[in-house]
Amino acid sequence: MTVVVAGGGIAGLTMALTCHEIGVPVRVFESSRRILPLGVGINLQPNAVRELIDLGLADRLPDIGIATQEWALVGRGGKDIWSEPRGLLAGYRWPQWSVHRGELQLVLLDEVRRRCGPDAVVEAHRLVGYRNTSSGIAVTFEDRTGGGTVDVEADLLIAADGLNSAARRQLLPAEGAPRWGGAMLWRGTAAGPPIRSGASFTLVGNLDQRFVHYPIGPVDPATGLQQQNWLLEMTLDSQQEWDSVAGWNREIDTAAFLPHFTDWVWDWFDVPAFVARAETVWEFPMVDRDPAPTWLDGRMALIGDAAHVMYPVGSNGASQAIVDARVLGAQFVRHGVNPDALSAYEHQLHDEISSLVLRNRGHGPIAILGEIDERCGGYFDDIDDVMPRREIETFMGRYKEAAGFAMEALNAAPRTIPEGARVDRAI
Ligand SMILES: Cc1cc2nc3c(=O)[nH]c(=O)nc-3n(C[C@H](O)[C@H](O)[C@H](O)COP(=O)(O)OP(=O)(O)OC[C@H]3O[C@@H](n4cnc5c(N)ncnc54)[C@H](O)[C@@H]3O)c2cc1C
Repeated sequence: MTVVVAGGGIAGLTMALTCHEIGVPVRVFESSRRILPLGVGINLQPNAVRELIDLGLADRLPDIGIATQEWALVGRGGKDIWSEPRGLLAGYRWPQWSVHRGELQLVLLDEVRRRCGPDAVVEAHRLVGYRNTSSGIAVTFEDRTGGGTVDVEADLLIAADGLNSAARRQLLPAEGAPRWGGAMLWRGTAAGPPIRSGASFTLVGNLDQRFVHYPIGPVDPATGLQQQNWLLEMTLDSQQEWDSVAGWNREIDTAAFLPHFTDWVWDWFDVPAFVARAETVWEFPMVDRDPAPTWLDGRMALIGDAAHVMYPVGSNGASQAIVDARVLGAQFVRHGVNPDALSAYEHQLHDEISSLVLRNRGHGPIAILGEIDERCGGYFDDIDDVMPRREIETFMGRYKEAAGFAMEALNAAPRTIPEGARVDRAI
């Protein structure tokens, strides 16, 4: 009864912790020579935070982020259109958490090594392929330290190898590269004095050009500053070719995009000045993939971005990666470490998450920014003069209803994996 996980990102490491919790031997093979704390801020939705807490990580979360309290939409002129509470303040039993992606990954890595043993994560091993056999699965990794290839036998391969997944390429050879929808993201972090509640997710702009800001750490009492995440987004000509492999690690000079944002300055925030303080700035083309017809191939299952990479607009990517691993773990408990568990996992999540991928291509609740932009260019003294409160509430209500149902369902749902559950080796 062994599981091999390909990819030591958020999905893969959560899978390893889950296997450990339910008594399943697991090893993670990660292609990077060393897992480093890369990336910038990400948001974890309450359903994912709940799973991390169930994994016994409650004490570690405050070291790597803060609970989000507010979500605010702001017009291009810097005045509020809408704001609403988030996480515990919205009524969830678990907070929404804003964290540094790389620091979350390191916490998960540290816990995997502590709980599963120092050799549980093997770096510098890139998945190149797999082969279902009569009794299990044979998985081939390239040893990037120069040692050729390594074959590993297991009962199951869980492929958590992200956006450019090798397992997905083998499963769907005709699929090709991720699909670019025409928008570009530039991302970074810097320390600054708190804005709004000091724990707000703030979104400014219109449908073509946007600024997103949220803090990912507490205020340092000595300096009065906190670590803050920023994102600038711009829609370009989608006919234009994207000239390299889409990835998260492309560094870029601010000169390439900041001229488009020179006058994004309000009395509460100066975008160009703040962006210029970031040590490193990353460029990411907004890519996703069409939903895969299946995530399974015999004893191989895709999870996380490998299964359903989506636009990073709804704070869903990392949250869903965590939930995937937990749902799969719950199915191991029910069915054993075998293809039946993989089928049950796919059955539970595939259709719902495929719809979410497509939904994330639309504008969701931020479509209201487009409407306000059409009416006044985003500049107003009083939002009531542009769009009466009742009209905004009706608009947001469409999305809030869905979110409200989700909150009630989550609050009432039992644990995904019952406390103390173990996989029965006899299954
Ligand atoms: C370096 C990096 C930076 C990121 N920064 C951000 C960010 O700033 N904002 C944001 O919203 N999202 C970011 N993401 C994406 C985000 O982490 C994911 O959308 C989400 O967490 C889902 O996690 P995942 O584990 O499925 O994928 P990922 O977090 O992408 O993890 C996949 C892992 O698999 C490894 N891998 C890839 N190919 C192979 C292979 N063939 N064999 C073995 N291992 C392999 C990768 O090195 C990586 O560690 C980043 C991802 C990476 C890898």
